[in-house]
Amino acid sequence: MIKDLHMEINKLYRQLGKEFYEQTQLGEEDRKVLDKRCRQIAKRILKLERLKYADIILEPVTEPEEALVQETTEEGIPLYRFCKHCNLGNPVGAQRCKRCGVLL
Ligand SMILES: [Zn+2]
Repeated sequence: MIKDLHMEINKLYRQLGKEFYEQTQLGEEDRKVLDKRCRQIAKRILKLERLKYADIILEPVTEPEEALVQETTEEGIPLYRFCKHCNLGNPVGAQRCKRCGVLL
């Protein structure tokens, strides 16, 4: 759904660019056509933002990181679970990265 919207927005941007170019070539500017296209784009961007926001709300609640004890080796060297995305060292029991939130 988000991908479709991205594609639609890109298509509309291209159409807008083409229409603007054609109008400039002909030397006759038709604001109505361009404004309409801009509104179509704005509508889809808003929809996209709403979808992204809905995703954030639907994300499962994770346990607070404070509950996790820093695990160490017998020698006392701290153990980490490194994030594949941002490379941050997280506590071994962490489900998600403290910095970027991706699943570990
Ligand atoms: Zn990360």
